[in-house]
Amino acid sequence: MDLLELILEYHKGNQRQGPGSEEATLKALSYIPCLNEKSRILDIGCGTGGQTITLAKNTAAQITAVDMFPQFLEMLMKNAKENNLTDRIVAEEMLMESLTFKEHSFDVIWSEGAVYNIGFEKGLSLWRKYLKEDGYIAVSEISWLTGTRPEEIEQYWVNLYSEIDTVENKLAVIEKCGYEIVSHFALDDKCWIDNYYQPLIDNSEEFLKKYNYADEVKDFLEQGKIEADMYNRFKDYYSYVFYIAKKNRSFVH
Ligand code: SAM
Repeated sequence: MDLLELILEYHKGNQRQGPGSEEATLKALSYIPCLNEKSRILDIGCGTGGQTITLAKNTAAQITAVDMFPQFLEMLMKNAKENNLTDRIVAEEMLMESLTFKEHSFDVIWSEGAVYNIGFEKGLSLWRKYLKEDGYIAVSEISWLTGTRPEEIEQYWVNLYSEIDTVENKLAVIEKCGYEIVSHFALDDKCWIDNYYQPLIDNSEEFLKKYNYADEVKDFLEQGKIEADMYNRFKDYYSYVFYIAKKNRSFVH
């Protein structure tokens, strides 16, 4: 069994595949001018679509949700159907590094806990062209909340994601990529524990049983436990931060 299969199986039954909450999605949305039925949102790295459904329920916009895994998109469309939202949500299997949309197609680009897969700066630069001239981007990204931090947590996260950086430096990257900062805020404990780690921990025993207590599965779950333990010990130093920005019209490369 390969790691990819484990990741998919472990995460696909959950509403979220990363830290976040309906409240955080709505708070980020509150910084974006009202969207009407002609507005278009692109949700990149949507997973099973927790935030996609929230966006559809709280705007009148048309939403295109993309992810590399069809298994996640199937779950999203099942939820969309249950919520009578299939007329406003389209799911497309697509890589975030090679989107195939026309330039200037979207009013808003949304991406929760996903841009790290190609890197924050690369994602923000690549995606800018798909926004209309007065478009907005709302993206969450793991960030240091303090100027310094204990070596143990610094090493842990730098090994997992070398682009992790302070909020101040992330804001500078956003501007460098051709956007004007609108707002930013850090995700709270609930986003990490109640909505992400706890549901995974609750599923662990059943998951182990399903794979006959295989050593690879035990190792995989152990990595998750270590990450959750790190969060509990060092949460004062880092979090996902939601960044909301507007396309800078006068930006020249
Ligand atoms: N936005 C969802 C949420 O917050 O619950 C999912 C976040 S999950 C941490 C990251 C998502 O990015 C996964 O659904 C994964 O399949 C997707 N992903 C990873 N690499 C990708 C790529 N290169 N292109 C498209 N999607 C990708």
